[in-house]
Amino acid sequence: MDFEHTYTKEQEQFRKEVRTWLEANVPEKMKMPLDEDDFTEEMYLFWREKHKEMAARGWLFPTLPKQYGGGGLSPELAIVLTDELSRFRAQGPFTIDFITPAILVWATEEQKQKFLVPILKGEKIAWQKFTEPKSGSDLASYQSSAVKDGDDWIMNGSNVFVSGNPADRPDYLYGPMLTDRDAPRHRNLGYFLIPAQAPGVTIRKMNLVSGSGQNFVFMDNVRVPGDHLIGGDHQGWQVAMTSSEKEHGGEGSIFRSEGPIENLVSYVQERRRQGVSPGGNLVLQQKIAEAHIEERIADVLNKRTAWMYHAGQEINWEGANTQFYSRESGLRQVGRVRDVMGMYALLGTGDQLAPHGGRQEVNQRTSFILQHGAGSLNIAKVVIARRIGISRTRERAAATPMTAGRTAAATE
Ligand SMILES: Cc1cc2nc3c(=O)[nH]c(=O)nc-3n(C[C@H](O)[C@H](O)[C@H](O)COP(=O)(O)OP(=O)(O)OC[C@H]3O[C@@H](n4cnc5c(N)ncnc54)[C@H](O)[C@@H]3O)c2cc1C
Repeated sequence: MDFEHTYTKEQEQFRKEVRTWLEANVPEKMKMPLDEDDFTEEMYLFWREKHKEMAARGWLFPTLPKQYGGGGLSPELAIVLTDELSRFRAQGPFTIDFITPAILVWATEEQKQKFLVPILKGEKIAWQKFTEPKSGSDLASYQSSAVKDGDDWIMNGSNVFVSGNPADRPDYLYGPMLTDRDAPRHRNLGYFLIPAQAPGVTIRKMNLVSGSGQNFVFMDNVRVPGDHLIGGDHQGWQVAMTSSEKEHGGEGSIFRSEGPIENLVSYVQERRRQGVSPGGNLVLQQKIAEAHIEERIADVLNKRTAWMYHAGQEINWEGANTQFYSRESGLRQVGRVRDVMGMYALLGTGDQLAPHGGRQEVNQRTSFILQHGAGSLNIAKVVIARRIGISRTRERAAATPMTAGRTAAATE
């Protein structure tokens, strides 16, 4: 296997095309702010329109099927695209995208046309509402209910930690709902796309230390048409597991973001304290070398999982393994940043003395919160244990768009 990272002529040509378009179409003041809470209404309206243009070029959901509004791009071109968009600080889709695998695997053709096409074209936005106040890790104990009323469903319940850009207004909230209180666990749920603007839906910001990107959702007798149910009315657990497969790292990542560590290296290279580089301090040298090693490991794990996913292989423990390592390492990394930068690491975006424009302070606040998002680290270990056969139960990966038809969604 060749690990050398080189780009083909086609990739370089494509890079030029993307870069030229971004430079011509995205003014400096519309670039994504370092702190999500600095995202303005003006930026939101700008990117809602830009996303439609990007979707028309196949750049909003680049690797998803063209027939539904995705880009149909190869992972090789998507690497370049993601690289350029990230370097340019272009805002990604507002949809929290654990929904598209669920629709691709479980929805009917009519539902794909109705829900998937507008999402992939950037016309509609969907957020994920899985977590309830008393049902997080144990998603199967879900209590928010959907009761049949003619062709419709009447929904009641509440959710917490529902992520979405602070300036955004979603069109759909997706996730499981309890459809049958008498059925056994894992067979008592349906999975719905709930119109977020319907009467009875209330969305309120949570204001966590990481910012205002998470929300409470309340549903009070919300009427939802029957065709908003994805899969059968007792199949919600299986559909949710297809979403979770992606959320738990099952698609890896083909792109190594310009993380805190690269910044840390250049910081030490450029900074002088009383004329001396902090890199001359042997303890700091050790810490930065450790940071460098971990960052490279996380990168290789992420790329390997992404490669397996795009090659259509069934992901067993690899997704949870990758995600666990990347996230836990993220916490160690911000600790090293504090060791090297000292109190400067805690200066925010508004402070002139803040290194890297305040990016490090944002990382300090978000890195420990992220240990809990997308399922906690303990749950990543539970998934690994089940898949390597050392748990009470044995589990296979849920169906994904790459494997649907070849794998069985597993429960207990
Ligand atoms: C930044 C952020 C973004 C989020 N975004 C979303 C979102 O968009 N949509 C959404 O629905 N939810 C979202 N969440 C919620 C997240 O998925 C939950 O916080 C997570 O699933 C854990 O659930 P909980 O908070 O109820 O903790 P609990 O399930 O109550 O867990 C509490 C503690 O017990 C441990 N624990 C629980 N069960 C086990 C077990 N079987 N074995 C070992 N340890 C266990 C956990 O690891 C944790 O440490 C987000 C959370 C955060 C922090």
